[in-house]
Amino acid sequence: MSARARDVWVSYLRVSTPEQAAKDLSLPAQREAVEEYARRNGQVIAREYLESGCSGTDINRKAFRQMLEDVLKPGSDIGTIVVHHTSRFTRNATQARVVKEQLRKQGVKVVSVCQELNDDPIGQLIEGIFECIDQYESEVNGMRTIAAMREAVRQGFFPGSTPPYGFKANKIEVRAGLMRSVLAVDEHEAAVVRELFQLYVSNNGAKSVARELNRRERWYRKGKPWSKDLVLKVLEESAVAGTYWWGKHDAKTRRKKDRSEWLPLKVEPIVEPALFDLARRLRSQREPTRNPGRAPSPAMLLRGLVRCGKCGSSYTLESSGKKVNGEVYQYRYYNCRIACRVGKEACPGWRVPATKLDNAVLEFIVGVVCTGDRCSALLGLQQNGTYRAITDEAYASVQGAWSTMIRSDPTVARNYLHHLVEQIEVDENRITVVPKEAYRVMA
Ligand SMILES: [Zn+2]
Repeated sequence: MSARARDVWVSYLRVSTPEQAAKDLSLPAQREAVEEYARRNGQVIAREYLESGCSGTDINRKAFRQMLEDVLKPGSDIGTIVVHHTSRFTRNATQARVVKEQLRKQGVKVVSVCQELNDDPIGQLIEGIFECIDQYESEVNGMRTIAAMREAVRQGFFPGSTPPYGFKANKIEVRAGLMRSVLAVDEHEAAVVRELFQLYVSNNGAKSVARELNRRERWYRKGKPWSKDLVLKVLEESAVAGTYWWGKHDAKTRRKKDRSEWLPLKVEPIVEPALFDLARRLRSQREPTRNPGRAPSPAMLLRGLVRCGKCGSSYTLESSGKKVNGEVYQYRYYNCRIACRVGKEACPGWRVPATKLDNAVLEFIVGVVCTGDRCSALLGLQQNGTYRAITDEAYASVQGAWSTMIRSDPTVARNYLHHLVEQIEVDENRITVVPKEAYRVMA
């Protein structure tokens, strides 16, 4: 027991989040019940701690913390905390036990108007049961809320509060009295998103994109300037390419949930999915720490695709025999397998430097992939099936970025290669790339 008499009564009143507040007893009603209870016991409430819009499972409730601080500080004269119902104090049974035990040691009581209990072992047992019920109810409510939200997403509605950048949440009345939100393109923000993607794929890092947008006075929301993190957030948000994923994080712990639990919500795309994809690939390329151990040896790039123009057998890697770093050959050549294994009598073969052959093939791929039409399609927004005109500068920069990506990322290059190329024939000073059937017209 503290030296000073703890004879002051205070109250703690709480209503939860707006959606749930309808079910809670209102603050004025809680206040009236609490004050009436104090009167019956010949007391007055000296101070009120008010919490609104806070869940009973939230451990960072402001008024709650303030109250505990006031109660537990040395020399405090607060001896009784009155709540309307134990569930107002906390909906976490463990927290209830810990905090109440801490208070009890200081000679402070927590009393509930609705659940008057004696301060004896039976009273404490019943109080513990009430606390468990409070937590159980909260968990069931939470599950109901989550289930309702998932159902809303399945029906194409946006149950969140803050739409991703580029979108706004439009309220619509589904049926009398039932309002739902749908994600719709916010034309002003969408224009900034397109600019942002354009800048990013034009060989700008996220930081310089942020700077450039700020220089152009194309602010983030509410006049807030762009930062590197905000730019990356937009680049990562798949909603801009047509799919918003709901439920990525646990609402309480903020931990990322397993992908299988995410729910897709189709929205009108702001940028071409191919542009979104390009930006994502560029990002992993510009930030190699994000995916370590990538970039397999370029020596494997053309494996299985090159044939000898003279004898038709496969081309293989012929090393110069010089070793660097134990295993990387400084000079690498491709040559006919038969010429290497059997000898010049079987096939004279033709030795071609690996980089020369790789580059010739990459050049072919870039020529097929990065055509003017495809670049404009990538950058120009599809609106009513038409492409927006783009500047030559923007077009050139996308072409440049795209071809850089293909050339410098063996994984990407190989994907395109196997998609586009049937075979590569090598003969004396002649490299012939045979495209797959579907691409023969284009090549
Ligand atoms: Zn040969």
